[in-house]
Amino acid sequence: LVEVHGLTKSFGDLHVLRGIDLSVDRGSVTVLIGPSGSGKTTLLRCLNSLEVPEAGTVRVDDVELDLARRPTRGELKRLRATSGMVFQSHQLFPHRTALQNVTEGPVFAQRRPVAQATAEATALLAKVGLADKADAYPHELSGGQQQRVGIARALALRPRLLLFDEPTSALDPETVGEVLAVMRDLAAEGWTMVVVTHEIRFARQVADHVVFMDDGVVVEEGRPDDVLGDPRQERTRRFLQRIL
Ligand code: ATP
Repeated sequence: LVEVHGLTKSFGDLHVLRGIDLSVDRGSVTVLIGPSGSGKTTLLRCLNSLEVPEAGTVRVDDVELDLARRPTRGELKRLRATSGMVFQSHQLFPHRTALQNVTEGPVFAQRRPVAQATAEATALLAKVGLADKADAYPHELSGGQQQRVGIARALALRPRLLLFDEPTSALDPETVGEVLAVMRDLAAEGWTMVVVTHEIRFARQVADHVVFMDDGVVVEEGRPDDVLGDPRQERTRRFLQRIL
């Protein structure tokens, strides 16, 4: 579903991505791991054109950006529409209810009928275990509940791909599990997911593919048992020793 070739991205003198190749199969879960600053978030943001890379190609399904020529705004928008993103902190609209947060994108960005968007949002809130919180405002919800609203909001846009950027790292330990459980369900339903996370146990249990990045390159990738259980590269080994 996703093909990335030779992706590079710098911020000033800082070369954050230095020739990334990545492919993601439809219906698979890919977990990106690596030290802070290795470029994981930037790569994720390039996949849905929140960042525009300098060189390389990004293809999601039938939408392709070739950075050999400057992409138009229409092309960037088309790429963005392929994926739903869940951020580290939920970034909900504070003055809208959980339900309104979920309907906002479909109604205002996608111009879908309000009744249809509301019905779909209600079902999505039930799916993430928040049927009884539709009318709650973000400040009335726990961090984990807010993050689950964030997931429902991403799903409401009917994306082809789900991107998660450290979705549990800002949460209290006791609410991490409920968010990971929702993500597990989505994986079991066959969603294609790319997840930046330090939750190695989740990666072992749910990922089909693990990618270890360091310093803007992919150092090692493969099945979770191999990359996490028996890494070939010294850099991967050292990283795992530090975080486990
Ligand atoms: P973390 O686990 O800490 O989120 P990461 O692997 O996701 O790290 P990135 O967030 O992709 O790393 O950042 C890579 C580098 O790029 C960092 O040094 C960061 O400071 C820098 N960077 C990211 N975004 C910007 C930006 N908009 N402007 C300038 N520098 C940036």
